[in-house]
Amino acid sequence: MDIGYDDDLERFRAHVGSVIRDILPDDLRDKVRREHAGLTPSDMRRWTRILHDRGGWSVPGWPAEHGGPGWSYERQYVFERELALNEAPPLNVFSAGMVGPALIEFGARDQKRRFLPGLANGDILLCQGYSEPNAGSDLASLQCRADRDGDDYVVNGVKMWTSDAPHADWMFGLFRTDSSGKKQHGITLLLIDMASPGLTMAPIRTFEGGDELNQTYFDDVRVPAANRIGEEHKGWGIGKYILGMERFGSAEVGRSMGMMRRLKRIAAAEPAAGGRLIDDPHFALELARAEIALREVELTERRMLFGPGGPDAMGFEASLLKVRGTEVQQKIMGLMVEALGSCGAIDAGDMRPGGDNAEPLGPDAAAHAGRVFYNLRKSTIWGGSTEVQKNIIAKAVLGL
Ligand SMILES: Cc1cc2nc3c(=O)[nH]c(=O)nc-3n(C[C@H](O)[C@H](O)[C@H](O)COP(=O)(O)OP(=O)(O)OC[C@H]3O[C@@H](n4cnc5c(N)ncnc54)[C@H](O)[C@@H]3O)c2cc1C
Repeated sequence: MDIGYDDDLERFRAHVGSVIRDILPDDLRDKVRREHAGLTPSDMRRWTRILHDRGGWSVPGWPAEHGGPGWSYERQYVFERELALNEAPPLNVFSAGMVGPALIEFGARDQKRRFLPGLANGDILLCQGYSEPNAGSDLASLQCRADRDGDDYVVNGVKMWTSDAPHADWMFGLFRTDSSGKKQHGITLLLIDMASPGLTMAPIRTFEGGDELNQTYFDDVRVPAANRIGEEHKGWGIGKYILGMERFGSAEVGRSMGMMRRLKRIAAAEPAAGGRLIDDPHFALELARAEIALREVELTERRMLFGPGGPDAMGFEASLLKVRGTEVQQKIMGLMVEALGSCGAIDAGDMRPGGDNAEPLGPDAAAHAGRVFYNLRKSTIWGGSTEVQKNIIAKAVLGL
């Protein structure tokens, strides 16, 4: 099935693709080839700066007055696909796709001036302070308090699962400012300087050995009221606006397309039963199933994005994309590990003679494939678990 672009978009695609290949540093391409293993927050800063210096390409949807090229949804889509297919790191989604747009839409003029340039050029890295020990799926039950004291809020409590907190400059988080009414009322969105006195973190080790997750503690942390986005007690609506964009992006269709290309390269190179793995009937069937499923998600995403209103018009459809997109991504990564055989096993890197500094065994992707496979179990949990997305879809479709 032809899912090409019209002439104008095709010219745009060819242009941005060739620029990306030009400006992408080799070491970053290598890390993406290893299924994003080893991409660090400082890599994200560097890549954001490189894209920013091309004319605001780090924030493709932002209007020119805030430093972006103001591309249409179609162009943003094509650009992000080209990043993935050329094995470049993705955009910084917290900055470009979540908090930046929220500030542009709901922020005060002074907040835009203070934060938008640093979000666009990579000087400011963000972390997300939404989840708490007893408020994940049921986010509106959050209890971490922000009590008003003069021109400040005083924050006390705990946030959980804060990705990359030690590397972040600022947190965008939801805090309880009033407990008297419905739980969705009385929530306020604050930007918090991660160097604030009283703010500490403890790492949570993930089961594949990663260290991206943290528990964040607030002990009388003073936050200027000038760092509040929107009105006091009315942060839930803005917080959900940001979540909607996260859900949409977390389908990671572009990344899966890049993974599928690498999987096919590996399967064409790996031997199986006297031939090539890609020709093995069982493997070829599974590969075809995964590719068809990915095409379905890609087409659905494109239909929604290019439809009237673009992503802003999306409701439960973002949940639908997230469920299917993450399932397909996990399936592709599973096939990758299968294709790599023992080279794809977790800790295969450490078993090499000479340890991590030795030449990797097998193809580029092999050294970290096992870890990435386990790490990607998260994709059906974060940004709203699959079960919760299915509830959202069911309610919308059944009109409940
Ligand atoms: C790797 C990773 C990174 C993360 N990064 C961040 C971050 O940077 N910032 C942040 O704020 N949060 C982050 N999160 C938290 C994430 O958003 C939550 O884990 C998620 O919302 C689920 O909440 P929970 O873990 O509390 O699970 P729970 O809400 O306790 O759910 C437990 C189980 O019950 C199921 N369940 C819950 N409610 C229902 C229901 N109504 N119907 C059916 N099933 C249900 C869930 O699907 C799940 O299987 C991250 C999570 C992960 C795994």
